[in-house]
Amino acid sequence: MNHFEYTDPTGDRLVIAPDHGPNGQPVVAFTTIPHTGGGTSVLVPLEHLEEVIAGERDMARQAGGATCGHTCPKPSHTHTCQRSPQHLDIHRDVKQKGNETCNWEQPHEPTVTEALDIIRRWYIDVNDGAGWDASDLIHDLEKSGYPLPDDENDEE
Ligand SMILES: [Zn+2]
Ligand SMILES: [Zn+2]
Repeated sequence: MNHFEYTDPTGDRLVIAPDHGPNGQPVVAFTTIPHTGGGTSVLVPLEHLEEVIAGERDMARQAGGATCGHTCPKPSHTHTCQRSPQHLDIHRDVKQKGNETCNWEQPHEPTVTEALDIIRRWYIDVNDGAGWDASDLIHDLEKSGYPLPDDENDEE
């Protein structure tokens, strides 16, 4: 009889094989066999097999089996991004922030063109009646690395 078998590093085995349930219906038997002997079978009817497989895929994703996989663009770097597949923001070579040896963040060089572009977009939004005011512009400029000169002293 054909079967699938997996042995883990400790010698425990998982055997998956076609079988028959108590009423003779076709099932797939998932049998775990500890290296110490014995074993337990779970009989999965064919109509529930997809559920089991989909569940396993979900668990694998949660266990960190799936990663973004984006290759580092830096010269001579061959590692890939280890964050989850749908992550936002920068790529980095470990899942947890702070442990990375490398991330894909591009060094940000503020340019006049970019600053003007922020002002242009702000102006369009104001004209469109988006409810923006000058503090939004200052905030956007600061966020992008163009802080305005501090005028606190002038106000006093
Ligand atoms: Zn790198
Ligand atoms: Zn990534």
